[in-house]
Amino acid sequence: MEFQIAVLPGDGIGPEVVQEALKILRRLGVKFGHQFHVREGLAGGAALDAVGEPLPADTLKLCKSSDAVLLGAVGGPKWDNNPPPRKPEKALLGLRKELGLYANLRPAKMYASLLDASSLKREIVRDVDLLVVRELTGGLYFGEPRGIEESDGEEVGVNTLRYSASEIERIAVVAFEAAQKRKKNVCSVDKANILETSQLWRKVVSSVGKRYPDVHLHHMYVDNCSMQLIRSPGQFDVILTENLFGDILSDEAAMLTGSIGMLPSASLGGKVALYEPVHGSAPDIANQGKANPIATIASVGMMLRYSFHLQDEADAIEKAIEKVLAVGYRTADLLQSQASQTLLKTSAMGDHLAEAL
Ligand code: NAD
Repeated sequence: MEFQIAVLPGDGIGPEVVQEALKILRRLGVKFGHQFHVREGLAGGAALDAVGEPLPADTLKLCKSSDAVLLGAVGGPKWDNNPPPRKPEKALLGLRKELGLYANLRPAKMYASLLDASSLKREIVRDVDLLVVRELTGGLYFGEPRGIEESDGEEVGVNTLRYSASEIERIAVVAFEAAQKRKKNVCSVDKANILETSQLWRKVVSSVGKRYPDVHLHHMYVDNCSMQLIRSPGQFDVILTENLFGDILSDEAAMLTGSIGMLPSASLGGKVALYEPVHGSAPDIANQGKANPIATIASVGMMLRYSFHLQDEADAIEKAIEKVLAVGYRTADLLQSQASQTLLKTSAMGDHLAEAL
């Protein structure tokens, strides 16, 4: 089969980890007889430096004419003091909006060989295999009015939390359908004891749930969920939640598995989906060969699964990751013991994974 992939390496460690993901794609193409046509575009700080805007029209056109988009990461101290429209992160929000990506899927799975890399005890994290389904285009991040204004002689910051029933319904459908392919358990997270938006969220999710009698639904307040993720994360299968809660809980879930360098994500909703590691551009380790490329490589796995429906190929990537970790190969973020493990640079980790395929 043939696929067009738009690749946006971005900033910091973005280009380094994307390079390794492309190595894996090339290897998969040979092994399974597919042609992955890769076209690169500018995004984030790299685009600001080159053409003065974070998401150039050419990049958007490239993404819209592709079957899927792979993004490294955007941002860095160089652009931190830019005015909001000229911040690298604008590229992400623009892509989500322009591609209609309202569903963010973030799996967090414990690999047996990484049990000791987690900051929690082995017995707590042993069974972690969960998926956070986060609403991505609504809530506080997009609600109007917003801004900082003068009121009664002082500055007042305003953001608006707003969700329509249809926005809640479509993300709930994504969560229930994902649960049907997993352990058939949805935990919907809200703050319905305080917020009206959460009361509507709970009502709509319960009503969608009736269409999926094979999936068990329960509701949890966000403060409790945050605690349960640390106390007993193995209880979760699919966590369904709104934009802000999902942003925070998915980073918490990320740390259960040892390193943010392990976690992939998919943003779905429109015709073209976006795949990217959960981590940012990690300027503190950029250009040193220290970045873990596994999150980006696993994001390619999600692309194969969700956009191209290539399940065997996606499984092959997951098995290669398991195999390489089981042998004891580690990037610096995962290294526990110099004696029993081998420290690898970013590109060497990519080479071993390609070989394992
Ligand atoms: P970050 O995820 O970039 O880094 C947090 C910590 O994790 C750092 O210590 C970093 O070295 C480490 N880390 C991250 N990815 C790693 C990897 N693959 N391998 C090994 N270690 C890794 O978050 P931050 O420091 O808060 O943000 C840095 C920049 O990235 C900021 O400009 C931020 O706005 C941007 N950012 C971008 C995205 C994105 O592009 N999707 C997401 C989050 C943050």
